[in-house]
Formats: sequence, C-alpha cells, structure tokens
Amino acid sequence: KVRVRFAPSPTGGLHLGGVRTVLFNYLFAKKHGGEFVLRIEDTDQTRYVEGAEQYIMDCLQWCGLTPDESPVVGGPYAPYRQSERKPLYREYAEKLVAEGHAYYAFDTPEELTKKREDVPNFQYGHGHRYDMRNSLTLPLHEVEKLLHDGTPHVIRIKMPEDDSISFKDMIRGYVSFETNQVDDKVLLKADGMPTYHLAVVVDDYLMKITHALRGEEWLPSAPVHLLLWEYLGWKDSMPQWAHLPLILKPDGNGKLSKRDGARLGFPVYAMNWTDPKSGELTPGFRELGFLPEAFINLLVMLGWNDGTDQEVFSLDELVEKFSMERVSKGGAKFDFEKAKWFNAEWIKKLTAEQLKPYVMQVFAAKGITISDDAKLLKVIELVKDRCVLLTDFYAQGAYFFEQPKEYDLNAVKPKWTEAKTDFFNELKAKYIASSTWQAADLETEFKEFTTEKGFKIGDVMLPFRIMLVGGKFGPHVFDIAEMLGRDETVVRIEKALD
Ligand code: GLU
Repeated sequence: KVRVRFAPSPTGGLHLGGVRTVLFNYLFAKKHGGEFVLRIEDTDQTRYVEGAEQYIMDCLQWCGLTPDESPVVGGPYAPYRQSERKPLYREYAEKLVAEGHAYYAFDTPEELTKKREDVPNFQYGHGHRYDMRNSLTLPLHEVEKLLHDGTPHVIRIKMPEDDSISFKDMIRGYVSFETNQVDDKVLLKADGMPTYHLAVVVDDYLMKITHALRGEEWLPSAPVHLLLWEYLGWKDSMPQWAHLPLILKPDGNGKLSKRDGARLGFPVYAMNWTDPKSGELTPGFRELGFLPEAFINLLVMLGWNDGTDQEVFSLDELVEKFSMERVSKGGAKFDFEKAKWFNAEWIKKLTAEQLKPYVMQVFAAKGITISDDAKLLKVIELVKDRCVLLTDFYAQGAYFFEQPKEYDLNAVKPKWTEAKTDFFNELKAKYIASSTWQAADLETEFKEFTTEKGFKIGDVMLPFRIMLVGGKFGPHVFDIAEMLGRDETVVRIEKALD
C-alpha cells in the first residue's frame, strides 16, 4: 500500500514550493489508492514558531488536500508530532553507537566554534578527527567516565571515508555522493531531542512510508538518510525518494524566495502569514483573491504536465492523470501573470453558486451585505468573465448593490451639451413609462430615441453607462439596467444629471 507523508517543520508560513510538495504527495498517494500522512517535524525547538502548525493545517484544508493521518485526526502511527515522540529516538541512536556507526561527541558549542575558526572549511568528524573529544578518539574508560558524570554530549553519525553512496531517485535517476563531502551530522542532541536526520528516518520507517517526495533542497541530506536506513538494518523498507525540482524566480535566476515576492509585488505564500514575533505580514494567494482550485492548478504545472496542451485541471482530474514520469528534473520558473490566468480560467469555470461564498466575503469586507440571493447570483453570472481575482468582483459588481460613489467625469464632461441633458431627461420619462423592463426592449427603445434625437449611438451610450456604474467598465449596459430595475435606473439617471 502506497503511503506518503508531508513532513513540514513549523517554522512559518507555507511557501509555494511547500504546497506543491504537499500536492505531488497527495496526487501520488490518491492515484495509487494510498494514504497521505501529515507529520509535524518540530524537533528543532529553536526554530519553532507559534501558530505555524495551525497555519499549515488551515492551508491544507483551504487547498482541499486533506491528510488521512495527522496530529489532529490521529491514525494508527500516532503521535504525528515529533516532539511528542521524543522518547522513541534515543534507542536507535544508542544502537548505532553500539554498532560503531555513530559516536558520542563531548565538544561544547564553544569548542566547536573555535575549531571552525581555526580550521578552514571545518567539517565535524570527517578528515579533522584529530583533537576531538569523542568516543572514537578517547579511551573507553574516559568515555565511560564522561557519560557517568553526565557530561553534555551529542550523538553523531560516523560517515565512512573515501566511499561513495548512490540511490535511484524517481525523478533524477541514479544520484551519487562522495562520503568525504558529508559531515558527521548530529543525530541526537544534548537535550535528548533527535535532529531532523534521525527523526525523519525513524519515523518514515515506523510509519511505513513507501515514497518520500520532497524538495530538491533536501538532496544533500539524502546520503545521511541512506546510511541510516542501512545501518539501522531497514534498507529493504526504505521509501523510494523523489526530489522535486525547484521553483525559480521569474527570470529563471535562482530559487524563488519570499523576498522576490515582496520585491516583484506578488505573493509567494499560500495564505497571509503574520510572524508572531515581528508582526510582519507576508501576503498570501488566498487573501489576494485566488481560488484554491486555481492555486493547486498553477502549482501542479510548475514541474509537471500531462504531455498534451491541456493546462486547466481539476483536483479529481489530476488524481487520475498525475504520474511521476512526467515530473521534470529542471526548475520551473514562476510567472505571476500566468498564475492570474489560471485564476481567471477557474472563475469562468465555476458556477455562480460555487462562487457565491467567496463573492459575499469580498463584498462583506467592503461593508456591503447582500440579502437578495437571486440578484447576487445573476450579478456573478454577468460579471465573472471579467474577473481575474476574486477581489475584482467588488469593482466589477458592487455598483449593482450601491450607487456609484464617483463618476469618471473626464470621459463625458468635455463633450457634454444641453442637448444631452435633455436627451437623458426624456429618456428617463420614456423608461418610466415603458411597458417592459427587458434588456432587449430597453436597448431598442434607447436606439430609436437616439436616432430620433439626431445623436450617434456613441454620443450617449458611454454617458449612460457612466450614470449607471460610474466608469467605463462592466457588461452590456442594458443588462445592467435590467438588473438594476426600473426604479434604480431612473434614480441613477437623476442623480447623475444633478
Ligand atoms: N522537515 C523537513 C522540512 O521541513 C522535511 C524534509 C523531508 O521531507 O524529508 O521540509
């Protein structure tokens, strides 16, 4: 049975790349009828950020990527928060020491810092093992005394020398590493907490994870993990790894960072994130007006395609079509204009009923509460093809519910004449008296009257639009009038002539 996991460290908001990792894991699991696990990797207490775990869970919920097992819903391998699994890890670290694959290191942080200063390119362990206080270099009785005295120590993996390690990545094929390039990483810290390296291997094993899809930035850690699987005697259960391509800056120059978003004026986080310490707000796609359907669609296309020209996919379609073979090795450039295009497509695709809750929220944020449900649905239908972001529904639709606050006078003033004032006064009277209130009839009446008065249609159509909506935008003007109704149309003509 396929079992995958998303294993974030709760250190802040979720970057695009993080959500894409969730998405690929989710799609892979669902495609194979498998399970998707959310595990919180919070063993580094110095990087723990209040609220980040909740944010991650809200984000998965917003995207519709619900985990089958998680700290909240539980599951057969609970707990799913590594800090709550702390007592579990020491036994494995000790086993590695006993079997000669790891060692106790008694150096204090100050000693380590000094070594880093004294020895250029210092790597703990490898090649520089000469003066260290650790269980590989000290006589046994001394090690025992240090342990007995409760001397603070960590447990480090002992990397083999002059060797190379390779594995087959699902995306990259064979990848190999020189062991001399890899540090003797800490596995268990002085406070008994495991580091990420130990915890990720132990938990992937205990939770029976079969495939681990993660960001390319974790590739350098792979040799450490590989050795741990081997040393712990679990090599046959090791998950298949896939290191997902980076998401690049729009110009392709390096990895997309949080700062690029701020610099170029687009979000890189899924949802707004406020840092609890600094109060700094990092904007998110959700609040900017993206639909979750569009967000996951634009994410999946960063590094995957189905081999055809199709670009718009629903989650269900993706579950059916996703395959690891079509994930690219190369980084994917992020293009915000393209991201907005996906959103516009999804706004067109969803029904008015589906869009309603989002639009209500957009209006509510601007102080407009809507009681006429049927009218709202019609308005959404009328303007949705003009909206790129959900927030555009305000500019594109608010005038159906409130009178224009200002008018684009520049568009009409210079060419205004007394004759036009008369035209609209008489039009008003005609509309008050007209027998129907259908867009098509209103248009016929308007056009006949225009000819009768010797105007060209262009002379009076734009002013009429501006009277009703305030500016040079919106759908067909007679559709607007029909929707506003007779009374409101008349009131707006009057108000504008004032
Ligand atoms: N805890 C790691 C992170 O924060 C997980 C990396 C992995 O998937 O192995 O992304």
